[in-house]
Amino acid sequence: MKIAVVGAGAMGSLFGALLSSVADVTLVDPWREHVQAINRDGLRLTEPEGDSIIHVPATTDPAAVHNADLAIIFVKSHQTEMAANMAAQLLAPHGLALTMQNGIGNRDVLARVLGESRAWQGVTAQGATLLGPGHVRHAGHGPTHLETRPEIAATAQQVAELFAQAGFETHLSANLDSLVWGKLVINVGINALTAILRVPNGILAQVAPARELLAAAVREAVQVAEARGIQLPYEDPVARVIEVARATASNRSSMLQDVMRGSRTEIEVINGAIVHEADQLGLKAPYNQVLVALVRALEATYAVRV
Ligand code: NAD
Repeated sequence: MKIAVVGAGAMGSLFGALLSSVADVTLVDPWREHVQAINRDGLRLTEPEGDSIIHVPATTDPAAVHNADLAIIFVKSHQTEMAANMAAQLLAPHGLALTMQNGIGNRDVLARVLGESRAWQGVTAQGATLLGPGHVRHAGHGPTHLETRPEIAATAQQVAELFAQAGFETHLSANLDSLVWGKLVINVGINALTAILRVPNGILAQVAPARELLAAAVREAVQVAEARGIQLPYEDPVARVIEVARATASNRSSMLQDVMRGSRTEIEVINGAIVHEADQLGLKAPYNQVLVALVRALEATYAVRV
C-alpha cells in the first residue's frame, strides 16, 4: 500500500517510521530542516529500548508523491485545510485521507475538500515528542481505533492489519464518536488549563481551584455530548479526567508545549469546539468560552510577554 504521511511532526514521524517496514511510505512536511535531516541521516526513533535509525523518504513537495492509496493527516488543526489540499493532490482518485488528530472538526475539513466518502477518522492513544529535526521520541503506547463503514470496510481492514504489523495495537469500530468524544473531553479538561497555568498535568488534580475549573469545563463538554446523543466511554467524566491528570502527572500537555514555544495551539478544535457545539444546540458553555478567550489572548501576546 502506498501511504503519504501529511504532517510529519512528532506523530507523523512515529507512524511513518514504523509503517515504512510494511508499506511504501513517504513523509510530506513543510519543515525543510526536518525533511533534509531525515533524507540525509534517516529518522532517529528513540524508544525505551534504545534508538533506531529508520530510512524513510521525506519531501516538502506534495507533487513528488503520486497516486497514494492513503494520506495520514498529522498536522496541527490550523493546518488541516492545507493538508487536505495536499492530500487531494497526491492521492489516487479513490484514495482515503485519515485523520487521527486531536479535537473535533478535522474530519469535516477533509470531507469538505475531498468528499465525504474519502474522509476517514481514527483516534490514537499513541504519544510522540519531537526532540529535534529528524529525531522523534515514542513517548507512549496505547490502542488506535479506526472507523469502519461499509464503503471503506476492505481498506479499513487492510490498513488495520498494516498498523498491527507495524506494532500499533489497532481496532476497527463502527461507532467512533464515543472514543473521539471520550478523548475530546479529557483534552477539554486538561489542555487549556495546563497551558494557561503553565503547569504539568498532575497539578490540575492536586490544586483545588484548578481542579474546580477542570470540573466546570468538563461538565459543559459532557452536557454537549449528551445533547448530541453521544455516550462517553466512561461513567464519571470528571473523575476520569482527574484520573488521567494524575496518571500523566509529569507530562506537559501538547497545548502547554505549544504555548511554551510560542506556537499556535489547537484550542479551536478542543474547547472551541465545545463552545461552537453548545451554541448550535442552544446550550451555554461559559467556562469553555473563557478558556478559549484566554488561550487566544495568550497566542496574541507571545511577542510582548513580560
Ligand atoms: P508537531 O508539533 O510535532 O508537528 C506538527 C507540524 O509542526 C509538523 O508539520 C511539524 O513538522 C511542524 N513542526 C514541529 N516542530 C517544528 C519546528 N521546531 N519548526 C518548524 N516546524 C515544526 O505535532 P504532533 O504532536 O505530531 O501533533 C499532530 C496532531 O496529532 C495534532 O492534531 C495532535 O493533537 C495530534 N496528537 C498528538 C499526539 C502526541 O503525542 N504528540 C498524540 C495524539 C494526537
